[in-house]
Amino acid sequence: MPELPEVETTRRGIAPHVVGQQVAAMHVYDRRLRWPVPRSLQKKIVGRTVDALDRRSKYLLFRLGEDTLLVHFGMTGSLRVYSRAPPREAHDHADIVLASGTTLRYHDPRRFGAILWVPSPAAAHPLLAALGREPFDASCDARYLWAATRRRSAAIKLALMDSHLIVGIGNIYANESLFRAGIRPTIPAGRISQRRFERLLAAVRATLTDAIAKGGSTLRDYVDARGEPGYFQVDYFVYGREGLPCRVCRTAIKSIRLGGRATCYCPRCQR
Ligand SMILES: [Zn+2]
Repeated sequence: MPELPEVETTRRGIAPHVVGQQVAAMHVYDRRLRWPVPRSLQKKIVGRTVDALDRRSKYLLFRLGEDTLLVHFGMTGSLRVYSRAPPREAHDHADIVLASGTTLRYHDPRRFGAILWVPSPAAAHPLLAALGREPFDASCDARYLWAATRRRSAAIKLALMDSHLIVGIGNIYANESLFRAGIRPTIPAGRISQRRFERLLAAVRATLTDAIAKGGSTLRDYVDARGEPGYFQVDYFVYGREGLPCRVCRTAIKSIRLGGRATCYCPRCQR
């Protein structure tokens, strides 16, 4: 499933090809995504210019004047840029053709993604309004996380994955960040000190930055590439390493279920 680093890498990969470009045409071949692609979309988007391509949480936001085209990848979605679009293949559901001749193609085998029109003000849209803070924003600091979790008895890992609090931290990156911060995933969020939140936030940022940097080497895969997109292969510290020796202390990595998700940690390094 695409997480924040994949979405950010996609944004960086396609932005140079779309920003400043006028939309010449849009073709929707299958509207049945997570929510139906609106029938009025084509009329609204054609003739508009993409002023910027932003990301909020795992949403890509194409800024078209005051309005926004929102794209979400769901479980298996991806966007590719083609200077000359090849014939459509299975699961290619929509094309945005730019005046330059470039085609932006949305591909999504499981169709849990979304392509939606978001009128101004975008921040008030139901999908965006309730989102917590961006992990790289200055406003998302240790004091904010500490203050927002004082009455929470839920495990810190669940708080970290709560998008009302902080966005873009999926299961893999929550596991990895907690390892880097030396925090056991099961500790109640309300018992984490502000000092430990400082370490945790630094770990979150380092983990996401590493993944985005890894993704940077795959940027060319977004342009004129064929086949399924490869999601990043990162060398994880704990995720998917149950029973294997900790990379730091050699203790066997433990795996439990927390909120229904695989939760891996080192019983010695994480307390
Ligand atoms: Zn260890």
